[in-house]
Amino acid sequence: QVKTGGRNNYRFFEASMNAAARRAIEIQRGLAVAVTNGELFLQYQPKFDCGSGSILGAEALIRWRHPALGLVSPAEFIPIAERSGQIITVGQWVIEEVCRNLRSWDAVRPGAMRIAINLSQIQLRSPQVVEDILAITERHGVPPAMLMFEITETVAMQNAEETRRAIDRLQQAGFEMAIDDFGTGYSSLSYLQEFGVQQMKVDRSFIAKLTETAKGGAIVAAIIRLAHSLGMEVVAEGVETEAQLALLKELKCDQTQGYLLARPLNGADFVALLDRHAAGTVTAAAQLEA
Ligand code: C2E
Ligand code: MG
Ligand code: MG
Ligand code: MG
Repeated sequence: QVKTGGRNNYRFFEASMNAAARRAIEIQRGLAVAVTNGELFLQYQPKFDCGSGSILGAEALIRWRHPALGLVSPAEFIPIAERSGQIITVGQWVIEEVCRNLRSWDAVRPGAMRIAINLSQIQLRSPQVVEDILAITERHGVPPAMLMFEITETVAMQNAEETRRAIDRLQQAGFEMAIDDFGTGYSSLSYLQEFGVQQMKVDRSFIAKLTETAKGGAIVAAIIRLAHSLGMEVVAEGVETEAQLALLKELKCDQTQGYLLARPLNGADFVALLDRHAAGTVTAAAQLEA
């Protein structure tokens, strides 16, 4: 199949495969020193209350500035780190860095908001994951009530016993859990019911279609009702327009996250936004300019 179109196409395909493979190797090598070289950093994307517009928390998103490749997207390097096992070290750095940041931010009081950390399925399957997380948070004196974890729908629904146990134990320790990218995986609804997760994050692809067609709106409305009837809060991901936000409010969605209200922000900018909110000086327009 690769050969259709003749010999030149085949060569071109081979050459581009090599380029992709070389880049993957460069990324894997680079990741081995990224932590110690200080090349990783976090951005925080706020989660807003749909009704009041107040900030209820933020999601930590990893960033990597590679010395030669420049900014490399987590969508590219996380899968490579998962295959190589480096995700364990990288994931621990993320938790550690969130804890360090939380300790240095006076604006964030315990109980006032939660910072969400994305957990990979490789992390969740590691037998040490809960002990590792508790060791890091205790060492930094960060209470579980200040953190939550996002796991994708596919990972959450896998009936892997160790995954299930890790999720239960994290919840028992006081961390909340969110199902990320809901709607893109395959969940069994009965499984969803057994599973006491606090938040459901509706995937950005559904929000993009929300105001486009009646069916797009109907699907999101049904997901919100389903989540609420299971006692979960709903977060809409990737909210980019006023029309989407208005409809989400109407549908009683709980929280929104997306470029309309805030892009992922560097720590200092996130804290500045929190301060402006606390001072009550944030209008929708000011927020959009931020
Ligand atoms: P995710 O957890 O679903 O994160 C949401 C992604 O959507 C982020 O991309 C965010 O920047 C982007 N986004 C937010 N609002 C909008 C919007 O309004 N429009 C559009 N077009 N995009 C929006 P990002 O930061 O590139 O991260 C991509 C994925 O990489 C994340 O998807 C998550 O699966 C993974 N990731 C990021 N940080 C970590 C981490 O620390 N650990 C692990 N294991 N995975 C991470
Ligand atoms: Mg996420
Ligand atoms: Mg997501
Ligand atoms: Mg998503």
